[in-house]
Amino acid sequence: MNSPEDYRSSAGKAAADTRLHSALAKMRDKVGRNALNLYTQVDAQADPRLKAKDVRRKVVNNLDVVLTSLAAKITGRGGHVHFAPTDLDAVEYCLGVARRHGVRRVVKGKSMLSEEIGLNAAFEAAGIETVETDLGEYIVQLKGETPSHIIAPAIHYSREQVGELFAEKLGEPYTSDPPTLTAMARKALREKMLTAEMGVSGGNTACAETGHVTIVSNEGNIRMSSTMPRVHVVLLGIEKVAATLEDHDVLLRMLTRAAAGQKISTYVSYVGGPRLEDEPDGPEEFHLVLVDNGRTRILGDPDFREVLHCIRCGCCLNVCPVYLKIGGHSYGTPYCGPIGAVFTPLTRGVNECHHLCQGETLCGACKQVCPVDNDLPRMLSLLRAKLADGDPRWNVRPQSRGTKAAFAAWAWIMSRRPALDLLLRLGRAVQRLLPKPSGWIRRLPGPLSGWTRGRDFPPLAKESFTERWARTRGRKA
Ligand code: SF4
Repeated sequence: MNSPEDYRSSAGKAAADTRLHSALAKMRDKVGRNALNLYTQVDAQADPRLKAKDVRRKVVNNLDVVLTSLAAKITGRGGHVHFAPTDLDAVEYCLGVARRHGVRRVVKGKSMLSEEIGLNAAFEAAGIETVETDLGEYIVQLKGETPSHIIAPAIHYSREQVGELFAEKLGEPYTSDPPTLTAMARKALREKMLTAEMGVSGGNTACAETGHVTIVSNEGNIRMSSTMPRVHVVLLGIEKVAATLEDHDVLLRMLTRAAAGQKISTYVSYVGGPRLEDEPDGPEEFHLVLVDNGRTRILGDPDFREVLHCIRCGCCLNVCPVYLKIGGHSYGTPYCGPIGAVFTPLTRGVNECHHLCQGETLCGACKQVCPVDNDLPRMLSLLRAKLADGDPRWNVRPQSRGTKAAFAAWAWIMSRRPALDLLLRLGRAVQRLLPKPSGWIRRLPGPLSGWTRGRDFPPLAKESFTERWARTRGRKA
């Protein structure tokens, strides 16, 4: 995880990277700006986000019952279910399965949860080759990087850069033609899929009523990594389940629209047990690892429970003015953008991750496009309040008494007109001394200097609106 200093430095570099900005703008234009239109395809009359929110709220409030039902269905079909309270426990379980089967190679589907628990590093440390089979994940793995977007891991790379990477790492002739690049990756990955002993996938959602886990993809890699190896392990956050098939379908329709602007993804895989006797393919052994890793703690706080409604579509990233400027790697955590700025502090420590929740703008765009109407701005404000006041329930220490005092003074002034008028007069007097080569203030002094580090600042008007009102109307506003 990035320290606050790393965050500032990476964000500063990314803010000047115009190539990154144009790559992210493609996601913004494809999905972000159109999100609300895409949802009306589900229901043009009512807001389908509210229905999806209701589905998520009900299931998160009844997780114990729903998960028990899901687990019973899967074990009844001969699968294994493991509840992992921590990331370490989840990793240890996966390693145990791999060791029992003498696994030397694992093929993986895209899974942000595996990034969260650090599974790849643990497999590699145990001498198990781990190969990402999603094209974007494969690209960042070849680069030795982590994903920079929840849905589009390699969104920060152009096809020319991918061509150079494949030429260097796969020994292929350079090309920037996407179909040729895809064929190169397919050739390299096919052999890995045919020889891996174990597949690992991340579940997008699950259904307790039917006892299956749903995995969506556009590349067909999930079909292979979930059926060809002898063992298949699915990682699923405990919150990502639906109670009934009807609820599951509500979420699936919203997920594919919000994530990729598709009515439905090219492939939808339903898994939930080992191959049955009369089935031609599928794994001999099936494991579902239900990962908690801080989620039940969030569940216990009604102020933040809503963040567990998230279906990890990544849509909030595509409209976030901060993410679109600094990209995913600046966050330094698996979940970036607005959802990461709430979820990560709650699971890794609010003080330790204060820069994430303080780095967002509270503009509200993330809530507007979220397919489950997640109120991330409300939770970001609450996290900031905890940093100001401290909260022993979340082990939060008050961050800066000076900042708190400054905001208290600001609130006092803003709620008293004479005090604000006095401050404005003082400001106008001081700004006469500041350099204004183009009419705008080039540098503010002291603690205000951060505002002008990357931009000029408009000077205070000679007359405020209230003063003009009083002058032209002859009375106080
Ligand atoms: S908060 Fe909403 S928009 Fe963001 S990833 Fe979660 S479900 Fe998608």
